[in-house]
Amino acid sequence: MTDQTITIDGQPVPLDDVIWLERHPCGCVVSGVVAVVADEWTLTTTDDAARHIHDTDGERQRAAGQGLTFAPVTGLRYRTEFADSWRCDRHARPASAQRDRWSRNPRRKAARTQEKPDAVSARR
Ligand SMILES: [Zn+2]
Repeated sequence: MTDQTITIDGQPVPLDDVIWLERHPCGCVVSGVVAVVADEWTLTTTDDAARHIHDTDGERQRAAGQGLTFAPVTGLRYRTEFADSWRCDRHARPASAQRDRWSRNPRRKAARTQEKPDAVSARR
Protein backbone atom coordinates (compact mmCIF):
# COMPACT_ATOMS: atom_id res chain seq x y z
CA MET A 1 0.00 0.00 0.00
CA THR A 2 1.06 3.57 -0.63
CA ASP A 3 -0.52 6.96 -0.03
CA GLN A 4 0.79 8.27 -3.35
CA THR A 5 -1.49 9.50 -6.08
CA ILE A 6 -0.88 10.42 -9.68
CA THR A 7 -3.00 12.56 -11.95
CA ILE A 8 -4.94 10.86 -14.74
CA ASP A 9 -7.19 13.01 -16.92
CA GLY A 10 -6.97 15.78 -14.35
CA GLN A 11 -8.05 13.56 -11.48
CA PRO A 12 -5.88 12.33 -8.61
CA VAL A 13 -5.83 8.53 -8.60
CA PRO A 14 -4.38 6.39 -5.80
CA LEU A 15 -1.27 4.77 -7.16
CA ASP A 16 -2.55 1.48 -5.76
CA ASP A 17 -5.29 1.61 -8.41
CA VAL A 18 -3.04 2.41 -11.36
CA ILE A 19 -1.99 0.10 -14.18
CA TRP A 20 0.69 1.17 -16.64
CA LEU A 21 -0.12 0.08 -20.16
CA GLU A 22 2.33 -0.04 -23.03
CA ARG A 23 0.52 0.45 -26.31
CA HIS A 24 1.14 0.77 -30.01
CA PRO A 25 0.04 3.98 -31.75
CA CYS A 26 -2.99 2.02 -33.03
CA GLY A 27 -4.05 1.58 -29.42
CA CYS A 28 -3.48 -2.11 -28.87
CA VAL A 29 -1.83 -3.14 -25.62
CA VAL A 30 1.45 -5.05 -25.65
CA SER A 31 2.26 -5.03 -21.95
CA GLY A 32 0.88 -3.88 -18.66
CA VAL A 33 2.01 -3.74 -15.07
CA VAL A 34 0.31 -2.68 -11.87
CA ALA A 35 1.95 0.42 -10.40
CA VAL A 36 2.30 -0.98 -6.90
CA VAL A 37 3.16 -4.39 -5.59
CA ALA A 38 3.80 -4.22 -1.86
CA ASP A 39 7.45 -4.79 -0.93
CA GLU A 40 8.27 -5.34 -4.62
CA TRP A 41 7.91 -2.17 -6.66
CA THR A 42 6.31 1.25 -6.94
CA LEU A 43 6.14 2.69 -10.43
CA THR A 44 5.23 6.39 -10.34
CA THR A 45 6.32 7.60 -13.80
CA THR A 46 6.26 6.41 -17.41
CA ASP A 47 10.00 6.08 -17.09
CA ASP A 48 9.64 3.78 -14.07
CA ALA A 49 7.21 1.63 -16.05
CA ALA A 50 9.47 1.50 -19.11
CA ARG A 51 12.43 0.46 -16.96
CA HIS A 52 10.33 -2.18 -15.26
CA ILE A 53 9.18 -3.77 -18.53
CA HIS A 54 12.36 -3.35 -20.56
CA ASP A 55 15.59 -4.46 -18.93
CA THR A 56 18.05 -2.54 -21.06
CA ASP A 57 18.42 0.87 -22.71
CA GLY A 58 18.51 -0.96 -26.04
CA GLU A 59 15.15 -2.62 -25.42
CA ARG A 60 13.62 0.67 -24.33
CA GLN A 61 14.95 2.43 -27.43
CA ARG A 62 13.70 -0.33 -29.71
CA ALA A 63 10.23 -0.16 -28.14
CA ALA A 64 10.19 3.63 -28.44
CA GLY A 65 11.31 3.28 -32.04
CA GLN A 66 8.25 1.11 -32.71
CA GLY A 67 6.12 3.94 -31.36
CA LEU A 68 5.29 2.13 -28.12
CA THR A 69 4.34 4.42 -25.25
CA PHE A 70 3.37 3.94 -21.62
CA ALA A 71 0.34 5.56 -20.04
CA PRO A 72 -1.35 5.13 -16.66
CA VAL A 73 -4.97 3.99 -16.43
CA THR A 74 -7.20 3.20 -13.48
CA GLY A 75 -8.01 -0.41 -12.77
CA LEU A 76 -11.64 0.26 -13.71
CA ARG A 77 -10.70 1.85 -17.03
CA TYR A 78 -8.40 -1.06 -17.77
CA ARG A 79 -11.18 -3.58 -17.14
CA THR A 80 -13.80 -1.64 -19.11
CA GLU A 81 -11.72 -0.30 -22.01
CA PHE A 82 -8.43 -2.10 -22.42
CA ALA A 83 -8.74 -5.65 -21.12
CA ASP A 84 -9.88 -6.77 -24.59
CA SER A 85 -7.41 -4.59 -26.48
CA TRP A 86 -4.33 -6.75 -26.34
CA ARG A 87 -2.35 -7.07 -29.57
CA CYS A 88 -4.41 -6.32 -32.65
CA ASP A 89 -3.98 -8.59 -35.69
CA ARG A 90 -1.26 -6.36 -37.05
CA HIS A 91 0.75 -6.56 -33.85
CA ALA A 92 -0.01 -10.16 -32.93
CA ARG A 93 3.61 -11.17 -33.37
CA PRO A 94 5.95 -10.85 -30.39
CA ALA A 95 7.93 -7.65 -29.94
CA SER A 96 11.02 -9.67 -30.82
CA ALA A 97 9.70 -10.01 -34.38
CA GLN A 98 13.00 -8.69 -35.64
CA ARG A 99 14.60 -11.90 -34.52
CA ASP A 100 12.03 -13.86 -36.53
CA ARG A 101 13.20 -12.03 -39.61
CA TRP A 102 16.77 -13.04 -38.88
CA SER A 103 15.85 -16.68 -38.52
CA ARG A 104 14.64 -16.83 -42.14
CA ASN A 105 18.29 -16.81 -43.02
CA PRO A 106 19.11 -20.50 -42.41
CA ARG A 107 22.81 -19.95 -41.94
CA ARG A 108 22.25 -17.28 -39.34
CA LYS A 109 19.74 -19.51 -37.60
CA ALA A 110 22.29 -22.30 -37.47
CA ALA A 111 24.83 -19.94 -36.03
CA ARG A 112 22.34 -18.86 -33.40
CA THR A 113 21.23 -22.30 -32.37
CA GLN A 114 24.57 -24.05 -32.41
CA GLU A 115 26.23 -24.08 -29.06
CA LYS A 116 29.67 -24.73 -30.41
CA PRO A 117 30.82 -22.36 -33.17
CA ASP A 118 33.42 -24.97 -34.17
CA ALA A 119 30.72 -27.46 -35.10
CA VAL A 120 29.15 -24.93 -37.48
CA SER A 121 32.34 -24.23 -39.39
CA ALA A 122 33.19 -27.94 -39.57
CA ARG A 123 29.96 -28.62 -41.46
CA ARG A 124 30.60 -26.04 -44.18
ZN1 LIG B 1 -1.93 -2.86 -32.89
